[in-house]
Amino acid sequence: METILSLKNLDKKYGAVHAVNNLSFDIQKGNVYGILGPNGSGKSTTLGIILNVVNRTSGEFSWFNGNLSTHEALKKVGAIIERPNFYPYMTASQNLNLICTIKGVSPEKIDEKLKTVNLYERRNSKFKTFSLGMKQRLAIASALLNDPEILILDEPTNGLDPQGIHEIRQIIQHIASTGTTILLASHLLDEVEKVCSHVVVIRKGIKLYSGRVDEMTASNGLFELKVDSGEPKLLEVLEKHPAIGKVIKEHETIIATLSTNISSTEINSFLFENGITLSHLVKRKPSLEQQFLDLTNNN
Ligand code: ADP
Ligand code: MG
Repeated sequence: METILSLKNLDKKYGAVHAVNNLSFDIQKGNVYGILGPNGSGKSTTLGIILNVVNRTSGEFSWFNGNLSTHEALKKVGAIIERPNFYPYMTASQNLNLICTIKGVSPEKIDEKLKTVNLYERRNSKFKTFSLGMKQRLAIASALLNDPEILILDEPTNGLDPQGIHEIRQIIQHIASTGTTILLASHLLDEVEKVCSHVVVIRKGIKLYSGRVDEMTASNGLFELKVDSGEPKLLEVLEKHPAIGKVIKEHETIIATLSTNISSTEINSFLFENGITLSHLVKRKPSLEQQFLDLTNNN
C-alpha cells in the first residue's frame, strides 16, 4: 500500500476555537476518502492545512511518505477548496488554457478533462452562461489538468440542485475508477456513503471514527476473523452461511458483514464444524451510524 498523505496529531486553534483537535489519519493510494462532519467541525480547516493555505498550531502532516517538500508534493495534488472562480466572458476552453499557462502545465489535456466532466460540448460557451453545477464541473476539470495523484474537494455538491448533485457524484466516481485517489469533505452522510470507500468522521475537530464506509454503516454489525492458515477455505465457508453478507479482506483480517444478526458462538461453531479453527473472532456493532445521523441532522 502506498501512503499518499499522513496526518499526525494535527492541531489548529483560532483563539479560543479548537478547530482541529489532535487529528491523525492516513490516506492510501487508490481509495476515496470522505471527511464527514457537521458544519463547523473542522473539515475545511484540515484541508487548508494540508494544502498549505492555513497554518497549523501543532502536529505534523506529510505528503508521499515525506519524500518531497510540501511545495513539490502539491504539484501532484488537484484541489478545489473555494467556489470556482473563472473569467465570466471567456469560454470554458479559454479559461482552462489560461490556467495551464498560470500553472505551467501543458494545454494538451484540456479536451480530455472537459470530456471527463461532460463539458466538452459546451467548451466554447462563455463561463457566465454556465449553471452552478457546470461551474463546479469546470473547476474539477481545472484541478485535473496536471493529472494529479489525488483530487481534493471541499463540499463538492453544496448549493447544487438534485440533478447537479447526481452529475458531480457520478463524475467523482468515474475519476476514482481511473485510479485517482480522492479526498472530499462533506457534511452529508449519504454523499459519503455513495461516493467514498473510506471515511474519517469528525466533530468539533475530534476524530470519532475512521475506517471503511461499509463497516460504519453495516447495520447488523460485522465479524472480524483471522486464521493462522487456510484463509481461502475460511472465505469459501463463510460465503455459504446465509447470515453473512459481504466478505472483504483488510490487511490480515477478514471482515464479514452480517445480513442478519447472528452471535459469535453461532458463527464459531459453524466454522468449526466445517473444519476451521479461528485464531481471532470479534463481533462489532457499528453503532456510529445512528450517532452520526443524529449529528448531521442537527446542524
Ligand atoms: P467545516 O469546514 O467543517 O464547516 P471549518 O474548518 O470551516 O469547519 O471551521 C471549524 C471551526 O473553526 C469553526 O468553529 C469555525 O468558525 C472556525 N474557523 C474557521 N476558520 C476560521 C478563521 N479564519 N478564523 C477564526 N475561526 C475560524
Ligand atoms: Mg467547510
